[in-house]
Amino acid sequence: MKFSIEKELGNGRARVGKIETTHGSIETPAFIVVGTKATVKSLSPEQVNTLGAQAVLANTYHLYLQPGEEIMKKSGGLHKFMNWHGPTFTDSGGFQAFSLGAAFNNSASKIGDRNNEDGKIGSADLHHKGTSCLINQTMSRSEAPLFLASSKKKDLLTVSDLNFSEHNQEKFAKVTEDGVEFRSVLDGSTHFFTPEKSIEIQHNIGADIIFAFDECTSPHASYEYQKEAMDRTHRWAKRSLDYHKENNEGGQALFGIVQGGRYEDLRKESAKIIGEMDFDGFGIGGSFDKEDIYTAVGWVNDVLPKGKPRHLLGIGEPVDLFGGIENGIDTFDCVTPTRIARNGSLYTRDGRINILNAKYVGDFTKVDSECSCYTCTNYTAAYLSHLFRAKEMMAATLASIHNLYFIVNLVKEIRASMLEGEFFEFKEAFIKRYYK
Ligand SMILES: [Zn+2]
Repeated sequence: MKFSIEKELGNGRARVGKIETTHGSIETPAFIVVGTKATVKSLSPEQVNTLGAQAVLANTYHLYLQPGEEIMKKSGGLHKFMNWHGPTFTDSGGFQAFSLGAAFNNSASKIGDRNNEDGKIGSADLHHKGTSCLINQTMSRSEAPLFLASSKKKDLLTVSDLNFSEHNQEKFAKVTEDGVEFRSVLDGSTHFFTPEKSIEIQHNIGADIIFAFDECTSPHASYEYQKEAMDRTHRWAKRSLDYHKENNEGGQALFGIVQGGRYEDLRKESAKIIGEMDFDGFGIGGSFDKEDIYTAVGWVNDVLPKGKPRHLLGIGEPVDLFGGIENGIDTFDCVTPTRIARNGSLYTRDGRINILNAKYVGDFTKVDSECSCYTCTNYTAAYLSHLFRAKEMMAATLASIHNLYFIVNLVKEIRASMLEGEFFEFKEAFIKRYYK
């Protein structure tokens, strides 16, 4: 993998660049489309390509459980298996190992995850307030306010705390120095991930860019716990890197993950330690509130070496994309565009709309008059409204094409505005209209 910077913005953080992999290049900043189980839900790879996506991120946890790493390996790897021949990423599976066990126990998707598109949304109400993809999608709508209330009160909640159900105090993810024991979301069986195991699975899946195994905490975890988890993440990063160097046969690039929650000294310490390791790039982990995009992300990127790419995990709200890019992020991934699409929530330049609203039943205009996607080029709002009301499968496909096109191309427009020296003007105009 090669990374080059084409242009830097005057603020010393934002940059335009290019990541080159053996499966093609990614012009950055870029939004990476999530294909959790080696498929972007409801879309063919040709549709994903046509809407402008440059790369796909699949999920290690899900592919490990189903169909399993042996099948992934025998298939010839992720690209061949899913027929996507552009660049690919896999995350480490850590976040799901920490958070998903409880979903099985609760027999409903009470706790989803940022890359599990089967989870309930639970994010629409929170998203515009700026909470991140990750926090929103770790819980259902009903339990989210509870979480926010309790986290404010106690200021101590960790992701591990989320693994307690109300009626069963058994903890489903056990963290030890060696790794994490967790239950399968599919059948409740017990599994154990170590840093070495996570990298081994990611080698078998075969994505171009893979991530070191980390411990995910809530942004509201106490300082003491964040410090403990961060130190462990650093030791796991070293083990991930050592295992990768000894066993990497496919030319895969490994990104280290910076943790440290919302604490400036921890974030800077983590960026320094991870930044000094011989990774090909970096992921910035942990969950983020709106303001963290301008604080924590900036602290980290001021410390990380400039010549390597940085990926912000699980962020996809428009305002956060601008904020992340302004503060030195090169790539993002998030399930939100496709997840909300399947519920009839569509992006427009004037903010999000719900196509199930009665006013769209007889609306023969485009969903977004300024959108050039396949859906808006060929179909009216009335037709989309009809498909959703009739519960037709095409509804998910057409809505997902539109939402992904909107977000992927928004980031491309941001890139163009940076090259033209008009980033801040573009940002102000977009946000003023979208959030009015
Ligand atoms: Zn469109």
